Order: sequence, then structure tokens, then C-alpha cells
Amino acid sequence: MPYLGCIADDFTGATDLANNLVRGGLRTLQVIGADGLRLEPEQAAQLDAVVVALKSRSVPAAMAVDDALVALEYLKGLGCQQFYFKYCSTFDSTDAGNIGPVAEALLDALDTPLTLYCPAFPAAGRTVYQGYLFVGDRLLSESSMRDHPLTPMTDPDLVRVLGRQTTRKVDKLTRAELAQGSAKVQARLAELAERGVAHVIVDTLDDADLRTLGRACLDLPLVTGGSGLGSGLASALVGRGTLEAAADAGRLSGSRAPAAVLAGSASEATRGQVAWARARWPSRQLDPLALAADPGLPAQIVAWAREKLASGPVLVYATAAPEQVARVQQALGRERAGALVEAALAEIAVGLREAGVRRLVVAGGETSGAVVAALGIRALRIGHQVDPGVPVTRAVPGDLLLALKSGNFGSEAFFGRALEMMAEAVP
Ligand code: ADP
Repeated sequence: MPYLGCIADDFTGATDLANNLVRGGLRTLQVIGADGLRLEPEQAAQLDAVVVALKSRSVPAAMAVDDALVALEYLKGLGCQQFYFKYCSTFDSTDAGNIGPVAEALLDALDTPLTLYCPAFPAAGRTVYQGYLFVGDRLLSESSMRDHPLTPMTDPDLVRVLGRQTTRKVDKLTRAELAQGSAKVQARLAELAERGVAHVIVDTLDDADLRTLGRACLDLPLVTGGSGLGSGLASALVGRGTLEAAADAGRLSGSRAPAAVLAGSASEATRGQVAWARARWPSRQLDPLALAADPGLPAQIVAWAREKLASGPVLVYATAAPEQVARVQQALGRERAGALVEAALAEIAVGLREAGVRRLVVAGGETSGAVVAALGIRALRIGHQVDPGVPVTRAVPGDLLLALKSGNFGSEAFFGRALEMMAEAVP
């Protein structure tokens, strides 16, 4: 049964963590939503970790707490023994929460006095020193996160930030202490717990620090962090022999079945990827204005795709240049335009699955959410990484292989690479 139970505050963050766990040798399932998914005992027996993806980063704190507690009960029910609360590497939150209140509720539910906070992801330039969070060479408060529309981060001192969100004592563990090794860190955490400290912000400058922290938190019932600590913890769990590294944790049975790409993201990386695919595969552009005028358009596009699928991948994209998106948004309103496109791509995904598509790439965070919901997918088994942070996945239930990419991820040839990896995974 799975040992590590993780609760992530958003969908792509969940995938990011799951991806790191797989790379660390843990067989990992991502479950969508707190209401869980029943796993057969033989399914559970093939897993080392389960990550529940919530949508709780920006909801009211009480709701985030409720969702996390439901997820915790679900993970306990699966037999998980250690728990991981995953949030963003830029500590996205406000004075009302949700990181502090959720962590505090999880501590209470697990009846344990202390947890640590490791948002750092050195490979992506997120580091913590003396409790201060850096994005590249800037303090968090001088990064673009200071202007985030929902969770503006204007204070880089995480001890202070978390202090405003919690009721119990917050302290920090510095790099100098970390440098003395994991046993010293464990002793220091015990000492802090003794003094009534419940929340410990940990310095992290590089991957070696993540490994030290991974070893140091092996016996903590609850750890919290970004996705980076997942790598450190996975290697520590395997190193201690708590879990055996799967020979190939990311192995999925593959498929050479028909393939399609649906792009609903207008971000720069996606625009380049769409151009790459348009030059190679039959494609149709989804124009939101045409969609508003003709609700039958998605069905027509599915009929068009049916004709093409036997000879190779097809591409359907709403992706457009910023001026074009702005024009559409002016005519339809930003929300209506977005919702129309998302609903149309979701309908097309359902039609394509009926037409035999078993390899599907979706570009766009919100778009991915809409497609996964329309297809009735409850969970994703996580496979090998296509590009950093984006793995191939296999839908549960069902036999659909998926790569879900938020807008700015992936190299130019991402779509082609993802579909090839799905075909190569044939046992
Ligand atoms: P990203 O991950 O790049 O942010 P999302 O799917 O999360 O992508 O968000 C993109 C939003 O833009 C979606 O709501 C989508 O429906 C909308 N959209 C995509 N193409 C267009 C377009 N041509 N005109 C207007 N809105 C669009």
C-alpha cells in the first residue's frame, strides 16, 4: 500500500510533486479532488505514493482546511503513514492563509507537535536563506510575485509571513545548522518542539540541502514544502529502505493508438509549440467568435478529425496572438471567451476519445482541468517526464495516455515528444 500521502493545493503543483517522486523511484498516483477515488487493493499495492490535487490555494481558509482534512482521511484510509502538504515554491498565500491554517489543522489531526516548511526549489532558482525566500537573485518581495493578482507576496521573511497565518510559534532552521548534517537537524527540531515551536522555516540553498532535509524529516509525520523536498524525501525513503526504489517507477503501458493535441493556452511557449505542430500535422483553429455563433462547431471538428486520425496526430488549437485574443475578449468578454473555448475543447476531447484517440496532449492549465473533468478522469498514474515538470500520465479509470501542460512549460517540440513517449511506453 502507499506509504507517502501528499496533499497539493493546486493541480499542476500536484503533478510537479508527483513527477519528482517518480524521478526519485516512487510509484505515484495523482488523485483529482478531495472526495477521493476508491482503489482496489491490488491497485494500492502497486503504489508508493498518492498525491491528492486540491484547488485550495486561493479559496477561503476554512474551505482549504476542510478539503485538506478530507484528503488526509482519504490518504490515511489508503494506509499512508507519512504526509506531505505541497504548496507553491513562492509560498503563495495571504495573511488569512492558506498555508498556515492548513498545516496547523493537519498537525492537530495527526496529533504531532511540529512540522517544517521547505518551499525552496533550487533548480528553479527558489532558495531560502536566513528564512528569506529568493526568486533567482531577488528577494521574493522584489520578484513578479509582488504583483500577483490573488496572492501578492510583499514580505520575503517567511517566519514573519507564516507568523501572521498561524496561532503557534514559528521559528527557523538556518543553513549553518543544516550544514552539520541530518542528525543535528533532527536534534534541533526536537529541541524546538520541546520549546513549543510548531512551525519551522528551513533554509535551503541547493539540492544537497534538499537531501539533508529529506533524511532529517524521515520520522516527521507531516512535512510541508514545494515540490523540491519531494526529491529529497523520496531518496531518503529509498536510502533508508522504508521504500524500495521501483526498477522503473515511471513505466506505463503505452499505446500506438490515434493521437491528438488540444491547445487552449495562448501563452508564448504554447504559441511556439502550436506553430511546430501546424507545420507537421493536420490542424484546425478554434475561433471563439465562430464558436459563439455556431454551437455545432465542436462536433464538426470531431467529424473532421475522425477522417484524419488513421494517418497521424491532429491538432486543434484556440491559441492565438495577443492582439487576436484581445479582440475576441473585447467582443465576448474575457470570461465568456475563456469558458466557450474551454467547453468546446472539452467536448472535442470527449468526441475524440469516442473516435478512438488514446494519446492526448492538452496545453493550458485551465483547459486541462476542463478536459479532465469532461472525460470523467479521477486519477492519473504518473509516468516519465517529457520536459521538466510535465510527465506522461495514464488516466484512471480508462486507457487514455495524457500529457497535461500548463501554458509556459515545455520546449518547442513538446507535443511530438510527448506523443512519441506514449508510443514508446508499449511494453
Ligand atoms: P495557460 O496555462 O497558458 O494559462 P489556460 O488554459 O490556463 O492556459 O488559460 C487560457 C485561457 O484562455 C482559457 O480560459 C482559454 O479558454 C482562453 N483562450 C484560449 N484561446 C483563446 C482565444 N483565442 N481567445 C480568447 N480566449 C482564449
